Amino acid sequence: MSDRQPTTCMRCAVGCGLFHHADDDETGVADARGNPAHPTNSGRDCQRGIREMVTPGGKRLTTPLVRRGGSLQATDWDTALGIVATRFIEALSNGSDSIAVLGSGQQTNEAAYALGKVARGAFGTPYYDANTRLCMASAVTAYKQAFGGNAPPPTYDDIPDAETHLVWGANPAAAHPVLHHWIANSASKQDGRLIVVDPVKSATAREADVHIQPEPGTDLALARAVLVQCLESGTVDTTFIEAHTEGFDQMLGSLPDIETAVDIAGVSIEQINAIAEALDYKTLIYWGMGVNQSAQGTATARALIDLCLATGNMGPGTGPFSLTGQANSMGSRISLSKGSWPGHQEFTDPAVRKDIARIWDVPLSRLPLTPGPGFVGIIDALAQGNIDVCWTVATNPASGMPDAGYVKNALEDVFLITQDAFYSETVDCADVVLPAATWGESEGTTTNMERRVSRVTAAVEPPAGVRQDLDIIAAIGNRIEPGLFGTPPLDPSSVFDELRALTAGTTADLSGISYERLADELAVRWPAPTADSQGGYQYHSDGEWSFDTDSGLAAFSTVTHSSVPEPIDETYPLTLTTGRLAEVYNTGVRSHSQGDTELPTARMHSKTVGAHLPSFDRGRTVIESRRGRVAVRVDVDDGVPVGVVWLPIHQATINELTLSKVDPESDEPNLKQCAVTLRAPRQLRSDSTASVAVEPANGR
Ligand code: SF4
Repeated sequence: MSDRQPTTCMRCAVGCGLFHHADDDETGVADARGNPAHPTNSGRDCQRGIREMVTPGGKRLTTPLVRRGGSLQATDWDTALGIVATRFIEALSNGSDSIAVLGSGQQTNEAAYALGKVARGAFGTPYYDANTRLCMASAVTAYKQAFGGNAPPPTYDDIPDAETHLVWGANPAAAHPVLHHWIANSASKQDGRLIVVDPVKSATAREADVHIQPEPGTDLALARAVLVQCLESGTVDTTFIEAHTEGFDQMLGSLPDIETAVDIAGVSIEQINAIAEALDYKTLIYWGMGVNQSAQGTATARALIDLCLATGNMGPGTGPFSLTGQANSMGSRISLSKGSWPGHQEFTDPAVRKDIARIWDVPLSRLPLTPGPGFVGIIDALAQGNIDVCWTVATNPASGMPDAGYVKNALEDVFLITQDAFYSETVDCADVVLPAATWGESEGTTTNMERRVSRVTAAVEPPAGVRQDLDIIAAIGNRIEPGLFGTPPLDPSSVFDELRALTAGTTADLSGISYERLADELAVRWPAPTADSQGGYQYHSDGEWSFDTDSGLAAFSTVTHSSVPEPIDETYPLTLTTGRLAEVYNTGVRSHSQGDTELPTARMHSKTVGAHLPSFDRGRTVIESRRGRVAVRVDVDDGVPVGVVWLPIHQATINELTLSKVDPESDEPNLKQCAVTLRAPRQLRSDSTASVAVEPANGR
């Protein structure tokens, strides 16, 4: 058995520091557990993170595959990489916008940076984005607009000091177990309280002192009603507003009439009062996908930030705190994102672009002039035949994207290169498959939701035939632009050094963080401009505020509620919403068992079931939206509002129902709400037009 070594859990963005070690024959991780010395979690861990690290489900990819005669067949790395390079070079002869690259918040910082460098510096394509667009883009856009930076101001250190914990459109009990433990601990103190805003009675909501269930898609109306109530009851901090904000008067002019807003949200004035009164205490407002994955996601996040600004809930123990899902969402953004260069530098800034081209040693003219349309827009470009080759890395858009049937068709029509550790629905669409190392086999760093960079280490070698993400990316990059990287295998620390140097002097300064420092301190929060500094509460130091906006002030918004993009009607009279199960990881590629043919389980109120009885057959029904049909089992659950259907996000068929309409500011899709109806499974079996199987769907 190998010596235990420190690493970081890649299951979620809490970023717990762990110890892990190899089993006796060094083919797998024998054990992992919380590292008591790690500053993020002080030894605490959760069973699902440990389980998925030590005994992941899913089916590993262990050899490169190429599609021949309609099926994927094993090949060697030289052949696979030769085909990949040839197809990229052919596509580039049609222009740099003939290639799309889709990355992930599950890559290390080093791999994410390297992939962005190939996409922007070697290909020069505008069609580059990561699946973080599907989870945090709205929160990030809101932070940027309000504060000039794009990460939450508070840190985990603020949780014990908060008195009110307002969890809005998030379920940390399922999605972030260790973080949830901290919140619950703080909320259970004598002066603490937990308020949950969620249409559904989630695991977190069941523990709440107050649970408020707005109509799905009305969070913005609810947030504005609370702000109006704060203004009427005097729960505002005029000193903070006058000294540190701008746009307050314009915001006042944009506020709705409270009765109208309350009516839209479907809540009572008493519930609005409950939130407004709680904001008079030190408050952290946490939010998640229930806010972000909406056509009004950015506006709603701005409204929550406005609540913090207006009530003076800024500074230690308080503030707006979006809860990131994927382990390294933040790292993928710092490394290089759709709209920015390393360190969140402005995409269009001529000086930055010149610098990047010089450091990468590529022609300035190759860097794309536009940041591209984002993940959903890239899929549209694929569907329209505008792209010749698409490369996906550690992401499963055929399952995770809204309107997944459309996505799958688009991926099948393009020459698709898929790099991943596990079989997935996207692998099924691929022309070349590149098997990559996963947790426990890779070296690098990751960045958690509170800006902490922490080492990821390998306890074991990957299986024979599998290569490191970073080495695959470098091998492809060097075939397109010789010398873009050193000769693989690359030393991840040298890639991290290149990345951190590029962030020096930026708002996300990593330059003072090195592998040597991480070996001593285990995790360091950015901004860290020197080898002995690290970030704390953002924008606030020694009682002074300085935001990263041009004025140095935080900005209020003038956002207003608008109706959901797909309201219910006579044909589709029910609202579908989705959420996470604690035990399943994202699209399930490393948590579903092989051959898992379980139907998804939909939760519905007994009155919903009663009103649609002809649509059920032995506890099953078929949920239909304008885009697809999915057979499900039904759990009667009166914690789900009448007229709402709840489905878990983790099975491929679910997103055949969801809507790809995006938030106009963040390009994040409206995954959380669409209109559906129920159909009897037996009717569909004789319905030759049914486009979706109604027999048990493949669980993967
Ligand atoms: S809370 Fe998240 S990061 Fe921590 S051990 Fe659990 S899954 Fe891993």
